[in-house]
Amino acid sequence: MIINVAQVRRDENGTAHFDLKEDFSAFESELEGITFVAPVHVQLQVNNTGDSLLVQGTIDAEVNAQCGRCLEPFHYMIHQDYEDEWVYAPQARSEQEETVLVFDKDEVELSERILEQIVLALPMRFICSSECKGLCPVCGVNHNLQSCDCDQDQVDPRLAALASWPRED
Ligand SMILES: [Zn+2]
Ligand SMILES: [Zn+2]
Repeated sequence: MIINVAQVRRDENGTAHFDLKEDFSAFESELEGITFVAPVHVQLQVNNTGDSLLVQGTIDAEVNAQCGRCLEPFHYMIHQDYEDEWVYAPQARSEQEETVLVFDKDEVELSERILEQIVLALPMRFICSSECKGLCPVCGVNHNLQSCDCDQDQVDPRLAALASWPRED
C-alpha cells in the first residue's frame, strides 16, 4: 500500500486525505490462520506540521476466522484507529527512527504499518457471537445447531479441554 505525499509534504500546513483499498492477501502468511475476505480499506488524514506528517485514520478489514467455542468459520470485522508520524529522511532525528515511519521519497510504503495495526486489532480468541453456545463437551455437537441429552459429568477428556476454556461473556 503506497501513497504519494509529494504535494502535502511540500506545503507547510498542508493537508491531504486518502481513501485506499488494497488486497492484503500476500500478508496472510504472517497472520496465523487468518485470511482476508475483502480488500483492506484505509482512510487517512495527513497533516503537515512543518517537522513531520501527522497521520490519523481508520483501518477496516474483514477476515475469515474460526470460532474458539463452536469451531465454525465466520467473518470477523476489524475496525482499528491508526495514528502515525511520518518523517522525511533528511529531517529525521536519530532518536525518532524507532517510532516514526521514515520515508525517503514521495511514495510512502505503509503496508507494514497497516499490518501491525491489523495484528493489534485481532482478539486473543475469536468468538462468532456472544450468544455462541459452543460444543457439547460429551458428544461434540454444535449447541448452536442442535441440542443433546448428554450427561455433562461424562466428559470426554479431549473435549473437556475445549469446554474449560474461559468464556468471555
Ligand atoms: Zn461460535
Ligand atoms: Zn452432547
